[in-house]
Amino acid sequence: MVLGIDLGTTNSVATAIVDGEIKSIVFDNSELLPSVVHISPRGVIVGVKAKNIAKVEPENTAISIKRKMGQDIKVNLNNKKYSPQEVSSFILKRIKDEAQKELNSEIKEVVITTPAYFNEQQREATKQAGEMAGFTVLRILNEPTAAALSFGTNKDEDSIYAVYDLGGGTFDISIIESCEGVVEVLATSGNSQLGGDDFDTKLAELIWERSGFKIEKTLKIDVKLNQLAEEVKVKLSSEDIVEIDEKFFAKVDNKPLHLRVEVTKEDFNKLIKANILETIELLNSTMEEAEIEYEELSGILLTGGSSRIPLIEELILENTEVLPILIEDPDKSVSIGATIQGALIKGENTDSILVDITPYSLGISTLDDKSFFNEDMEIELKFSKIILKNSPVPVFKTKKFYASTEYQKAYQIDVYQGEHSNLNENIKIGEAFLEINKPVQDGEIDVTFALDVNGILKVEAIEVNTKEDIKVELKSKIGKKVTKKVLSDKLVNSNEENLILKIDAIFNNPEISSDDKNELIELKNRYLNINDEKEKLSIEEEILDLIFYLEE
Ligand code: AMP
Repeated sequence: MVLGIDLGTTNSVATAIVDGEIKSIVFDNSELLPSVVHISPRGVIVGVKAKNIAKVEPENTAISIKRKMGQDIKVNLNNKKYSPQEVSSFILKRIKDEAQKELNSEIKEVVITTPAYFNEQQREATKQAGEMAGFTVLRILNEPTAAALSFGTNKDEDSIYAVYDLGGGTFDISIIESCEGVVEVLATSGNSQLGGDDFDTKLAELIWERSGFKIEKTLKIDVKLNQLAEEVKVKLSSEDIVEIDEKFFAKVDNKPLHLRVEVTKEDFNKLIKANILETIELLNSTMEEAEIEYEELSGILLTGGSSRIPLIEELILENTEVLPILIEDPDKSVSIGATIQGALIKGENTDSILVDITPYSLGISTLDDKSFFNEDMEIELKFSKIILKNSPVPVFKTKKFYASTEYQKAYQIDVYQGEHSNLNENIKIGEAFLEINKPVQDGEIDVTFALDVNGILKVEAIEVNTKEDIKVELKSKIGKKVTKKVLSDKLVNSNEENLILKIDAIFNNPEISSDDKNELIELKNRYLNINDEKEKLSIEEEILDLIFYLEE
């Protein structure tokens, strides 16, 4: 069995193929292992514990060691000097131990990924780290190639993708051509010193500035501030505003410092906009280098944890006019690609690799796009999907809804499962009731659905202005085992050309009624004639919903 390892700057991920399915190795209840190493007289600690210790004892802890790979330097941990590859080997050794335990077999062979930008020395250091951990390193694979492989692009007939990979510490861009099962990197570029960590640093500075504290920043405060900034940054990917309220943030002269700061998405976007534009410039120049025009691309694949930042999609769309495709599971895609590469090296058939998907759409009842239910209305309700059928699980999605009356005091959230736009043809699986103590004139709620592999659906609704919220846990009817789907089908063709092809294909189906055809034509025309990209995305969603429904 070959293990695929994404040895990341911030987190590492490992996956293997077990009985034709991708299986992630779990570390301390998470599929992400923080790439943090702490050494104390008691021994070596790797992962989330080391990350926590870093808050109180940063000096014996190595973070982001990947940035130092290939350099002729040593880091001092617990009074001993270690090379970057030695520190990395501790991370890999932990992965090996956990994988062997979990998969109940000896694991020798691995494929490890590195940024495409890594030079020979950096690659060699990564290989050495693998060997020090007791592995046989079958291949060092470029991360963007791995991401593309995970997407099944090697199974496309002939296609060209740009892979935009923004992780914790590195940015990579690659133009990749898939032809008859062979993936070729046409051009690659990046910045090995740019990633989510830099956004954390900038945000930490802003938080510190706004805190009003007039004290010297200690190393401990710095580490804590950075971790706090990361939490805030992640929240800002789905929320417009984050209020920090840490009563015991630090101690000065034995008195606690109370940190109270507010940060908005706009503040954050301002901080990072220049960085994102820099990545888009690199995308442009790499396209030029590959002698490829944007029209020739089958898509821009977004991968790496930081690609979840909404500003990235917005700016890419604005600058390239290509709709980016956010890989459903950007944290795991590189590791999955490494695993597939391992299987390909061993001559295994990867056509049958399966992923878990949800066989039903899940959503809530609403009036129409711009309104939300009140208690005594009599209008026929429609089904608004939040998680679409066939989404690989686990999956996490947020959708915004608007109040139907001014100063609305309560929101009844009825959760349904099914595919029909007519609400009553779907199955109700539960409900939640959100009461607002201080209603605002134009209420807005964000409804988040998180569906895990066991079919447990966590629903959270939050009123955006007042931050009042409700959380419920429901059991969807998908049972323990969700259906399986060949990995290469995972690609959702969300660029314009593919969408139009999809519309045309369904339009030509003789079983489609003329009413449905008219609705399709109307949506298609609206889609093609609209310039506002946000509206366009929302129409696209409507079209995909309708297509799903008609395909049923
Ligand atoms: P990776 O190196 O691909 O594991 O990416 C890790 C980086 O992604 C870290 O900087 C994380 O803080 C960042 N990240 C993960 N999830 C999110 C999110 N939802 N929004 C913004 N950044 C994120």
